[in-house]
Amino acid sequence: MAGEFDLIARYFDWPALGEGVDLGVGDDAALLSVQAKHQLAISVDTLVSGVHFPVDTSPVDVGYKALTVNVSDMAAMGAEPQWFTLALTLPEYSPDWLSAFSSGLRLAAETYGVDLIGGDTTRGSLTMTIQIMGEVKPSNALQRSAAKIGDVIYISNTLGDAAAGLQVYHQHLAKGASAHQNELTQAQKHCLMRLNRPAARVAESRIIRQFANACIDVSDGLLQDLSHILKASGVGATLSTDTIQYSAALNSLYTRPECLSFALSGGDDYELLFTVASEHCDDFERAMSDQAFSYQAVGLINEDTGIITNHQKELLTTKGFQHF
Ligand code: ADP
Ligand code: MG
Repeated sequence: MAGEFDLIARYFDWPALGEGVDLGVGDDAALLSVQAKHQLAISVDTLVSGVHFPVDTSPVDVGYKALTVNVSDMAAMGAEPQWFTLALTLPEYSPDWLSAFSSGLRLAAETYGVDLIGGDTTRGSLTMTIQIMGEVKPSNALQRSAAKIGDVIYISNTLGDAAAGLQVYHQHLAKGASAHQNELTQAQKHCLMRLNRPAARVAESRIIRQFANACIDVSDGLLQDLSHILKASGVGATLSTDTIQYSAALNSLYTRPECLSFALSGGDDYELLFTVASEHCDDFERAMSDQAFSYQAVGLINEDTGIITNHQKELLTTKGFQHF
């Protein structure tokens, strides 16, 4: 590799934006100052080329998304995202790839105000591991285990666009498919964008953490991620599958049953899924509306441990993305 240190200096060393970085990239370890009376929230995610994103995904998008999905974990925990490390494994030294990946990564870092404070660079199949760190006041941390019977289940915005985006990619853009990005409709482009450039709901999380009991981000579909909350909390849920709202783009491309299937079993939306005690719902909804944040109530927590039913009491079963 044409000088590992040169590569790091060129692509992964930029001035710190935020607070708490006493020493960043370049030494044996970074030094951070965590605010008094806060907990350090830490999470790590690995993206493998060909598994977590198609091999021909633009490196700008790969960089942007790799960081954003980690920032989303901080939002889901009720934490303020602050710092991250990057462990990068590359098959070869490719300045074009590195420069594009680094620009996407930096764009996301600036969007969410997080600092790259170190990492590791090795040769091998294209893989990136990002570890993110954030700060949270103990009373604000949103654990999966905290849902209570009677809580209203909410999601931020709408679900299903990213899974639709993956279908658009496979049908129109993947190797062997004929269409070019320019030939896609606005709605198709929107869904593709939601797949490749997800948003982490950090600003929404600042409201949600004041009111919510349990929270998770939706990476594997509503059923799968809700079931994590149910299992951890020892409760069940009903979902109002007849009234869930979808984006205008999704509605224009698919029938309602197809939209529902994307929302329930698709992945990669990175919206927040959370529960709020019924007595706090009015205040919560007012606070969200004041900030013009979009949300919807999609169900209720009940005592049917581990079970999800729809409004007609039919059992809904998980078939989200399974890694193994
Ligand atoms: P060491 O020999 O101590 O493991 P490295 O040679 O791996 O150090 O890295 C040198 C410095 O560059 C360290 O501060 C490390 O955190 C940083 N670094 C290495 N790779 C990356 C990367 N991909 N992104 C950001 N910082 C990196
Ligand atoms: Mg190292």
